[in-house]
Amino acid sequence: MAAILDQQPDPPPFACQECGACCAYAADWPRFSLEEDADIARIPEAMVAPDGSGMRWTGERCAALSGTVGEHVACTIYADRPIVCHDCVAGDEACLMARERHGMSITLP
Ligand code: SF4
Ligand code: SF4
Repeated sequence: MAAILDQQPDPPPFACQECGACCAYAADWPRFSLEEDADIARIPEAMVAPDGSGMRWTGERCAALSGTVGEHVACTIYADRPIVCHDCVAGDEACLMARERHGMSITLP
């Protein structure tokens, strides 16, 4: 999920694989920014928003998110996820906002 990230503090304050709140926060969150066309082309077309602005949103979550938010989740395009997803780090401001929305703990160790 989201963020199963490269920049996590060690140890990360929350387990992204048990969360996924940032992947189910807002339709305009997993948007494209500095991606090259080739980066976007690696993402299945069915998971890209019709206007090409970012990831497709299905129901209340990113189309690439699998599993149950707050239990066990995974990003099915992890290697090719948008830059914003790379940049979201467990425990940062966006993470805490998303977790709070989903009623999850935002208490940092
Ligand atoms: S692309 Fe992956 S990491 Fe990014 S919002 Fe969607 S499921 Fe989460
Ligand atoms: S909201 Fe935070 S803990 Fe949850 S998946 Fe995103 S970065 Fe990880």
